Amino acid sequence: MPDGEIPLSRPWMDEREADAARRPILSGWVTQGPEVAAFELEFAAEVGALHACAVSNCTTALHIALLAVGVRPGDEVITVSHSYIATANAIRYCGATPVFVDIESGSFNMDANLIEGAVTARTRAILCVHQLGMPCDLASIVPLARRHNVPLIEDAACATGSRILWNGRWEHIGKPHGDIACFSFHPRKVVTTGDGGMLTTANAEWDRKFRLWRQHSMDIPDTVRHHARQVVFESYPEMGFNYRMTDIQAAVGREQLKRLPQIVERRRDLASAYGNLLALHPGIGLPLEPEWACSNWQSYCVRLPDSVIQRSVMQFLLDRGIHTRRGIMNSHREPAYADGTASRNGSPLPESERAQHNCLILPLFHQMTEGDQSRVAQCLIDAVQHPACQLGVQLAE
Ligand SMILES: *Cc1c(COP(=O)(O)O)cnc(C)c1O
Repeated sequence: MPDGEIPLSRPWMDEREADAARRPILSGWVTQGPEVAAFELEFAAEVGALHACAVSNCTTALHIALLAVGVRPGDEVITVSHSYIATANAIRYCGATPVFVDIESGSFNMDANLIEGAVTARTRAILCVHQLGMPCDLASIVPLARRHNVPLIEDAACATGSRILWNGRWEHIGKPHGDIACFSFHPRKVVTTGDGGMLTTANAEWDRKFRLWRQHSMDIPDTVRHHARQVVFESYPEMGFNYRMTDIQAAVGREQLKRLPQIVERRRDLASAYGNLLALHPGIGLPLEPEWACSNWQSYCVRLPDSVIQRSVMQFLLDRGIHTRRGIMNSHREPAYADGTASRNGSPLPESERAQHNCLILPLFHQMTEGDQSRVAQCLIDAVQHPACQLGVQLAE
């Protein structure tokens, strides 16, 4: 990226991660092994979970989480369309149908009031998303899921380090408050292993299944055979997958995890600074944090005034070296979902669509300076006032 450009995000890594990666590389054991096992224990301790199982990414985590709670062909899973497409795809991997409900107007998260109306005899699970790192309304969703006796899976891809006020105490997302939480360590998330994922649960039987399925359902892991003093033959009691994380990734993840508190603190400072800088402009809608939520601010997403063209604002910023993204996508509007595979009970998803059109994700990363931030804020304020960005005005070719 040329000098003076401000990227949307940037992982915070240095010699510490590079040194950590040397360990497995020089040890002779590079795939899932002792580093993965240590990373799992450290992650579980960090979020307060009984079990944590590392996998190749969050999409594979979602897949085996849905399988573990019994999602099978013909079933329905209630979720949001307004999410990264992997959320809905994971449901389809199981042969099940995603049933989309709309998001709240004040956040980018599932509207708990719409869940009841989407429950049918075929509902096998609810898959909620802590979008952009903001905890969703678990205090409403968890009791609803329990009342209908439907397992609740949390797509916590963006939410490592986010917390929620639960029975008067701040707890990490991933305890989990539902039944299973799934995390991502893609470079766009707050901590990264290049690619990677984690499942947390309090259910020992599900954790056992994750461990079996992620490694081809091999009943005696290679790590055990490696150390055995007697010949052992493994067997494959059922069909599994190759969803392993490597020890190189886990070694990097362990370093990243040590930085998590610092990363979250910095992101929270940056988010509050954006709030102060942009509050000066009444047309720009700022993201709200409920008093029961403590976001890691994986993304800072603002609402643009209705009078401006999203694409023109983004181009205006890009011309000035500032990289942004539009609001989160909607799976139901993608060609991959045009065949009616997903259902929405015939109900429209106006808030989901509005958020995709009206919203803008601003640069936010650990190394960002105050100077970077005021430049972004000023350019955004200039853009929404600029004639070239107003609706009804054509951009010159
Ligand atoms: C990033 C993301 C995923 C996918 O995570 P991967 O680790 O890339 O598979 C799933 N759901 C949400 C909400 C995400 O933001």
